[in-house]
Amino acid sequence: MSGVTRKLWRFPGGIHLEGHKAISTGQPIAEAAIPKELVIPLQQHIGAAAKPLVRVGDTVLKGQMIAQAEGQVSAPLHASSSGTVIAIEERAVPHPSGLNAPCIVIETDGHDTWCELTPHPEFKQLEPQELRNLIRDAGIVGLGGAGFPSFIKLNPGGHIAIDTLLLNGAECEPYISCDDMLMRERADEVIRGARIMRHALQARKCLIGIEDNKPEAIAALRQAVTGLGEKEIEIVVVPTLYPTGGEKQLIKVVTGREVPSQGLPLEVGIVVHNVATAATVYRAIERGEPLISRIVTITGEGAGKAQNMEVRIGTPIHTLLEQSGGSRGDYQLVMGGPMMGFALNSEALPTIKTTNCLLLATEADLPPRPAASPCIRCGECARICPAQLLPQQLYWHSRAKEFDKVQDYHLFDCIECGCCAFVCPSNLPLVQFYRYAKTEIWAQEREKRAADRARERHDFRAFRKEREKEEKAAKHKARAQAVKQESSEDSKKAAIQAAMERAKAKREQNDTAPQNTDNLTPEQQKMIAEVDARRAARVETGGGKEENEER
Ligand code: SF4
Ligand code: SF4
Repeated sequence: MSGVTRKLWRFPGGIHLEGHKAISTGQPIAEAAIPKELVIPLQQHIGAAAKPLVRVGDTVLKGQMIAQAEGQVSAPLHASSSGTVIAIEERAVPHPSGLNAPCIVIETDGHDTWCELTPHPEFKQLEPQELRNLIRDAGIVGLGGAGFPSFIKLNPGGHIAIDTLLLNGAECEPYISCDDMLMRERADEVIRGARIMRHALQARKCLIGIEDNKPEAIAALRQAVTGLGEKEIEIVVVPTLYPTGGEKQLIKVVTGREVPSQGLPLEVGIVVHNVATAATVYRAIERGEPLISRIVTITGEGAGKAQNMEVRIGTPIHTLLEQSGGSRGDYQLVMGGPMMGFALNSEALPTIKTTNCLLLATEADLPPRPAASPCIRCGECARICPAQLLPQQLYWHSRAKEFDKVQDYHLFDCIECGCCAFVCPSNLPLVQFYRYAKTEIWAQEREKRAADRARERHDFRAFRKEREKEEKAAKHKARAQAVKQESSEDSKKAAIQAAMERAKAKREQNDTAPQNTDNLTPEQQKMIAEVDARRAARVETGGGKEENEER
């Protein structure tokens, strides 16, 4: 099915922007050289940082897992070339905060030697859970946005029925063309990945949404679908309008379904992944290769040679610029596009899994914004907002640090597309305020969670101490009782012993010779002798006992 007859919908707001994509699509995807040093941050996306599995001095092979996922929302990391681990330390990383973070640093050996790989060419022989585990172990995260670990989105839970896998090939932001070039040159990888993901999700169909400003990519995808005879994959061509690439916006345009406020696409039976993520899933399953590289657009008027490059994760940006004809004039280095990207302060920073574009923006690309002036309440921002928010209210409350109120105005439905700031006649840096408010709210929530955990720990410690005290008291009481019982038994024993001794003394007294046997007559002595003889005779015949008792 080509998708030409499918009904399309429209999301509210949005703007038509100059694409600037042709700058970087003039030549095929180039292979970036192996850098001397790879700097691989342990945290490259949403979720917890990975935990190193290697130590300084270890030799590693390309594709070898060097850090494992830590926690529910996390992804492992793999060496993107062979070499030696020379440091595990804090380095500068590409992040809006500009802060350092722990990284594994590999000195490459130039051989690019793969570790042993385990391909699964017949993915249909694997259960969905097995596929998800392989995708998790390959370290795959969303390559089109914030880098959410892909295996989680492929596992919506048994109670939720997903009917549609929607692949996002809109790539609506100006200048960025890595997905466009991927779809042009590797459409079969995207389609193969789509089949695997559909199987993992057990989704009935797969739609691939792509903006109509990418005719070469559309043709390549259609060709790939035909070649594979895949009936359940549909290429849906949508009008070019920023920000169609937003998850909720693309769902609306392609299916007409509305994702609820602060809800997830799976609530309307849809899971969205990026086309580049799909190609990476194909490589992970059918070739056994983990995520160690991605396509990066190098573009902007400041770029010596704008192009797309297949880049190993961890490659320092300056080495890519050197391979792209260096730079021209004054420029601001931006990671991402002009609408949603953020400025980088160093070219020594490494590329990470979410580096889709390096924009060397001159004043021609990003004209300086005039000074901001007070809001005139014109309402333009609300008219243009694709999330149907009230940007000026968000702005006021963010600025006033009224974080409860800003959430009442659905701050977290804001996709930071920048449309409001783009049209604002007062040139207010609206998105910066929204990012600030989100960061503050997250920080407060983190603090609250930490305080809750600390309180729980304190309560538990107090409970444990109280329990130990009670146990100690019970033991003490039991011991005292035992001692008491023991002493009463001792006095009983002593009384018995005394009685026995008294009886013994009495017996001994009875056994002593009678005092009146002195000075006996011979007759008396004879009688006694006869009595003693009789007694002795009785003792020998067993009658002694009775005799003794009689006595
Ligand atoms: S567009 Fe700017 S000036 Fe107009 S209402 Fe929104 S924030 Fe205020
Ligand atoms: S940045 Fe947020 S508030 Fe502004 S237009 Fe986009 S979604 Fe609306």
